[in-house]
Amino acid sequence: MNILIQKFGGTSVSSFERRKLVAKKVLLAKDKGYNPVVVVSAMGRKGEPYSTDTLLSLLEEKFKENNPLCTDLLLSCGEVLSTVVMCNELTKHGIDCVPLTGGQAGIITDNKFSSANLIRVDTERLKTIISQGKVPVIAGFQGITEDGYITTLGRGGSDVSAAILGAALNALEILIYTDVDGIMTADPRIVLEASLIKEMSYSEVFQFADQGAKVIHPRAVEIAMKANIPLVIKNTMNNSLGTLINNEEEYNNSNIITGITHLPNRVQITVAVNDNLQNSNYYSLLNILANNTISIDLINVFPSQKIFTIDNKDLESFGSVMNSFGIKYSCIEDCSKIAIIGSRMRGIPGVMAKILNCLSKESIEILQTADSHTTIWCLLRSENTEKAINALHKEFNLG
Ligand code: ADP
Ligand code: MG
Repeated sequence: MNILIQKFGGTSVSSFERRKLVAKKVLLAKDKGYNPVVVVSAMGRKGEPYSTDTLLSLLEEKFKENNPLCTDLLLSCGEVLSTVVMCNELTKHGIDCVPLTGGQAGIITDNKFSSANLIRVDTERLKTIISQGKVPVIAGFQGITEDGYITTLGRGGSDVSAAILGAALNALEILIYTDVDGIMTADPRIVLEASLIKEMSYSEVFQFADQGAKVIHPRAVEIAMKANIPLVIKNTMNNSLGTLINNEEEYNNSNIITGITHLPNRVQITVAVNDNLQNSNYYSLLNILANNTISIDLINVFPSQKIFTIDNKDLESFGSVMNSFGIKYSCIEDCSKIAIIGSRMRGIPGVMAKILNCLSKESIEILQTADSHTTIWCLLRSENTEKAINALHKEFNLG
């Protein structure tokens, strides 16, 4: 059916001027003979009137915790508003379009409110609309349970909606339109000289997304990879070619490092092994933390102490678990986990040394490191994040 998924993020639909640019992208796709399927996010970012964060602030914390059904219903409204407003603009450009909620578009999920999982996509309605030459405009970030309750797919979930629909409709491409030219060597808000990466493999983009590069949701990358549909990240505001993501592992990139990203809000935990905690009890502690949905990473096991990190949001529940077992620990709050990513660093010696030298030249204290074949992580105090990323970006000539 020549289907092209065109997903537009929050900033792309936030103003009249930008929605006009969106309409032009949809028109162009139609003119080229594609059947566009449009997916939109809620309008604007934090602080703007119809953004997801603004909607969230309408409810009290305790109510939100105890009423996931209400919370998801409220959250879904941001994308619904955006859908209808976008239809207004598309109609003005002579595009025959049909507004749909996620549920109306056939996205059926389980009832894990706020981070629902896909069960299936019922595509009949979408296929009928497309075969009539109309453009479905779908509210991203949401689905519906089998028994008709509206769910949301987790923050950044419109990317996931786009990928889900792309896979279900066997689209030619999934285009993610945003406010930057594509995937860059670092967040351009942090590194002014960050450069565009023209082509990447799904697995490398997954690393970027999973390690904090907000530009695409990791789950969307997984879904596109499984369906083997090319993903393209583009700027709504210009005609840059963007980043093409597919299965190719070897690109014409001579740099061993592809880019740098980071996860903020990490807390480093140190637990001493003595009367406080026996080695054998440490492994049961890991299970207990997992059962309390506290995920830990950067795990270093030494005979005399155990070190790992947790997310800041879990610090309170972590404290309760540790107190209930009478285990003492020390922590360094407000850390950042920097990820230096590059699938070509496999087997190349000296990369870690180069990173450590570079950070030491900048007098940046490294709290912990870890490495895999494709990524080196450094835990730093978050006040050093921007300085460290900029220094490493320069060190590896990524600009
Ligand atoms: P949208 O609302 O379009 O979904 P997001 O805010 O979710 O947009 O993602 C785009 C943002 O991702 C950019 O504005 C940029 O600041 C951030 N970002 C972080 N890391 C990267 C990176 N490596 N490349 C490009 N953008 C990045
Ligand atoms: Mg996004």
